[in-house]
Amino acid sequence: VSEHSNEELPARILDNSKPSLRPVNEGAEKWLYRPISCLNHGFVYLVDYMGNDEAIAQAARVSYGAGTKKVQTDADLIRHLLRHTHTGPFEMVEFKFHCKMPIFVARQWIRHRMASVNEYSGRYSEMLDEFYLPEPEVIRKQSVVNRQGRAEELTREQQETVLRILKAEFTSQYNSYKELLRMDVAKELARIGLSVANYTQWYWKIDLHNLMHFLRLRLHLHLDSRAQHEIQVYGKAMARIVGSAVPIAYLAFLDYCLNAMSLSALDIAFIQSRDWPQSEEQVREELVARFNNKRERDECLQKLRWLSLVRS
Ligand SMILES: Cc1cc2nc3c(=O)[nH]c(=O)nc-3n(C[C@H](O)[C@H](O)[C@H](O)COP(=O)(O)OP(=O)(O)OC[C@H]3O[C@@H](n4cnc5c(N)ncnc54)[C@H](O)[C@@H]3O)c2cc1C
Repeated sequence: VSEHSNEELPARILDNSKPSLRPVNEGAEKWLYRPISCLNHGFVYLVDYMGNDEAIAQAARVSYGAGTKKVQTDADLIRHLLRHTHTGPFEMVEFKFHCKMPIFVARQWIRHRMASVNEYSGRYSEMLDEFYLPEPEVIRKQSVVNRQGRAEELTREQQETVLRILKAEFTSQYNSYKELLRMDVAKELARIGLSVANYTQWYWKIDLHNLMHFLRLRLHLHLDSRAQHEIQVYGKAMARIVGSAVPIAYLAFLDYCLNAMSLSALDIAFIQSRDWPQSEEQVREELVARFNNKRERDECLQKLRWLSLVRS
């Protein structure tokens, strides 16, 4: 986390003379204009926000009636809402981030359509000589079990070779880009030789409901297909800010979404049909009889392991 100097803050923010009736969220305020570094050149910081935990409860009480205030605390109400997927009230809280990320991360990120985006224009502005170079420990082999994932580490020597190849490639790409600009080629064309490791940036505004959906998909460790490490880094950065801004909703999110798992009807029927715990070998055999699909079998076994129902 780095502090922005006061000179970088917009003048309106330094002008405290205009009081507002809007609720001030202290947990969000402390993250305004404080970038969290992500990867080698990227960052995420909060530009603006609306609402707090109370805003979620307040919106819910419009539908449930003020009477709920007496019988349920805000925390009880917020947790109840999330447990029962009553997500409308979570849309009352909004976050606006400034994010800088490699283009390949942006491509995954942009798939989350329920957000508003305004991106840096490589047609208008010069692309910077900033490319993503992975930390050596995340340079790994292709996984054979998960075609969308990484497996064990390469040797230190191999990692250094990968970094040397990438650095040479990026230098060459950027030199060519500059050469095209010197020839007065339009920026929108000159950039096309730059790779998806080059950095872009955008303003990203999203409500809490959709941000939790993003965080679940990009940070959930129990899902079979995990999100790529590089986008997880950004998810973790935003999760820190959300945890500070709406601590009650965030805790409910951890309990009922991020660290929760779902059981299919087939999983439940299988669990109900025998006594537990059982040996992994035995369970594997019985799963074959129950699930035709290997992937589904593996996923069920994984859930049974998390539930400590199988002995290895
Ligand atoms: C691990 C992982 C791997 C992935 N791999 C790939 C891949 O290989 N290729 C690929 O193309 N994508 C891939 N994706 C992207 C994925 O398919 C989703 O597009 C992305 O996660 C955004 O989810 P979403 O549509 O639910 O979110 P949002 O776009 O934010 O939408 C939120 C919700 O709004 C509703 N919604 C939004 N737009 C529509 C619409 N047009 N029609 C109907 N309902 C809508 C849906 O209910 C949706 O869940 C991957 C995602 C993850 C997490």
